[in-house]
Amino acid sequence: MNYTEEDLIMLSALQHYAFCERQCALIHIEQAWNENLFTAEGRIMHEKVHEQDRESRGSVRIEYGLPLRSLRLGLVGKADVVEFHRLDKDTWQPFPVEYKRGKPKHDHCDLIQLCAQAICLEEMLSVSIPSGAIFYGRTRRRLDVSFDETLRRETEDAAKKAHELITSGKTPLPVYEKRCESCSLMAECLPKTIQKRRSVKTYLTRILGEP
Ligand code: SF4
Repeated sequence: MNYTEEDLIMLSALQHYAFCERQCALIHIEQAWNENLFTAEGRIMHEKVHEQDRESRGSVRIEYGLPLRSLRLGLVGKADVVEFHRLDKDTWQPFPVEYKRGKPKHDHCDLIQLCAQAICLEEMLSVSIPSGAIFYGRTRRRLDVSFDETLRRETEDAAKKAHELITSGKTPLPVYEKRCESCSLMAECLPKTIQKRRSVKTYLTRILGEP
């Protein structure tokens, strides 16, 4: 079953969800946003990418800031860069490229975001897109990404769960982990403080037998 236009959520919600459910809820339910050094660098990099609309380089046409939508996954957003590689006179193969400020991560957040872009393009252009790439600012390298069945399932699952979370309107409690140190919402989220408060409450409940 497809989503309607009114149900669409931001494509970036998938990446936030894959990073941390609470971060996704804080941004997409509570509209919290706090720029830190990491997000500022990322924003400047994206703005630079989006400065131009399109260009041609030999047999490659490049579109910047292309609007994206998928009713199947219920997503709307923008692609940093979509390269169209000429296969023959009338056939162009889309190849999404996402720009990130850091370096390749251990988790799949960035891969999921890129795969979601590819799924949007497939639905919009009725084509099949087997691969794309992520350009990492710190390493200045392009990481080739294959949109295999596993990554596609992971992306579809993240889209479904991000929809359920945003529709529920409920923000999960924090769990302090290493990822919190690079989270732009650390100050709003207060993971250590809230976790400590919960432990004290649990302890009191246990010794005092409070409900
Ligand atoms: S500080 Fe940690 S728990 Fe809170 S939103 Fe960020 S990653 Fe999630």
